[in-house]
Amino acid sequence: MNSPTEIPFLDLVSPHLELREELVSVFQSALETGRFVGGSMLENFERDFADFCGVRNCIGVASGTDALRFALMGSGVNPGDIVLTVPNTFIATAEAISQAGAHVEFIDVDSRTYSMDPAKLEEYLEARCSLESAAAGLVSKKSKRPVTAIVPVHLYGQTADMDPILELAAKYNLIVVEDACQAHGARYFSTKNGQWMTAGSMGRAAAFSFYPGKNLGACGEAGAVTTNDAEVARKVRMLRDHGQIRKYYHQIEGYNGRLDSIQAGILHVKLRFLPEWNEKRRALAVAYNELLAEAGDGLVLPFEPSWSEGVYHLFVVRVQDRDQLQQYLSDAHIGTGIHYPIPLHLQQAYSSFGFKEGDFPVTEGAAREVLSLPMYPQMSADQQSEVAEKVLEFLSAREMGEVSLHVRA
Ligand SMILES: *Cc1c(COP(=O)(O)O)cnc(C)c1O
Repeated sequence: MNSPTEIPFLDLVSPHLELREELVSVFQSALETGRFVGGSMLENFERDFADFCGVRNCIGVASGTDALRFALMGSGVNPGDIVLTVPNTFIATAEAISQAGAHVEFIDVDSRTYSMDPAKLEEYLEARCSLESAAAGLVSKKSKRPVTAIVPVHLYGQTADMDPILELAAKYNLIVVEDACQAHGARYFSTKNGQWMTAGSMGRAAAFSFYPGKNLGACGEAGAVTTNDAEVARKVRMLRDHGQIRKYYHQIEGYNGRLDSIQAGILHVKLRFLPEWNEKRRALAVAYNELLAEAGDGLVLPFEPSWSEGVYHLFVVRVQDRDQLQQYLSDAHIGTGIHYPIPLHLQQAYSSFGFKEGDFPVTEGAAREVLSLPMYPQMSADQQSEVAEKVLEFLSAREMGEVSLHVRA
C-alpha cells in the first residue's frame, strides 16, 4: 500500500473515479448496441477533437505510434526517403519513420526548449543536402537518398518553434508531420500568421497519442491523426483499416490500426475536461516556478518562450547530480521520471546507425541532467509544496557538502 504521504509521479486513478459514472455508461452503451468498432462514439470524438485542434479532419487510430506512421505515409513519405527528427524524444517517433520504410536522421535540440533547433535544421539542409534538380528535390550528399520530411516533436507539452521550421520546409519542399503526442492543446504564436495556432494544426498532418498518462488519455491504447488536407485524411482512413475504401474493396495494403469505440467514447467524455485540466497544469507550473525560484542557478526551470503556451505534459527541471536528486526524492516517497535517459542515437536498437557519444551534445547533456517532477491536474498545493521543499532541501544539502569538501582540501 502507498503510504499516505506518498506523492506519485502521475495520478491515473482520481480523474477516472471523478468521471466514473459517465465512463461506465460508455461501456454500457457499447454492450447494449454491440457497436465495438466504428459508429457514432468514434465519429463524435473525431469531430470534437478536430474542433479542439482547429483542424478539418481527425482520424482516430490505435496508438500514437500508428498515428505517426499513418501520418507520414498518408502525407507522401515513401520507402527509402530520409525523414528528419530529434534524438531527444520517445523511440516511437523514430520507429514510425522506420516502419514507414524511411531512414531516420537526427537534428539536435535547442538547449532551453529541448525541441528541434531550427538553426541546426537549417545547417543540416544547407551543408549536408543538395538540390540536384527540381524534379529530384533535395537529396542527402552522403547517401543520395531523397530528404522529404521533418518531424518536429512538441516535447513535454510545448510546441517546437514552428515558424522557422515551416519556412525551411517550404523553401526545400519538405513535408512537416508534427509529433503532438505530448501536446494536446498546446499553442504556438505564429508571427508569420499573426495568430496563436494549436498543436496539430500546423504541419501537413500531426500525430496524437492517448496513452493513459498523456494529457488526454484513454483507458487503454489510442491515438489520432489530425490534418487540414482532405487527401491525407482519406489515405489515413484507408491505412488504419486494411486499405479499404469500403468493406472488402482494398485500394492499397493497409493495417489494422483502428480506434475502438469504447476508447473513443471514453476520450469523448474526457475531452470536455481537457481545457480545465490543461489550465490546472499551467497553474501548477506557475506555482512550481515560484516555489523553486530561490534555488537559483543550481536548478534550471522550464523555459517558456513568448511564442509558447505550453500544457505541461511534464514539468522538467535540469540539475547536476540528477540521479542523486531523484534518489533523494524517492526516499521521501516522491515519484519522478526521466525523459529521456538515453538519446535515441545512442540506443542499442540504433547501433547500426553508427552514431557515437558527442554527435548530438545538447541532447546528451539533457539526458544526463533532466528530471520530471510530479505533474497532474489533481495535484494539491500541499503536495506541490512538499515536492518543492524536498528539492530545495537537496540543493542546499549539496551545497553544504561542496563547502565541506573545499574545507578538507
Ligand atoms: C507517447 C508518445 C508517442 C507514442 O504514442 P503511443 O500511443 O504510446 O504509441 C510518440 N511520440 C511521443 C513524443 C510520445 O510521447
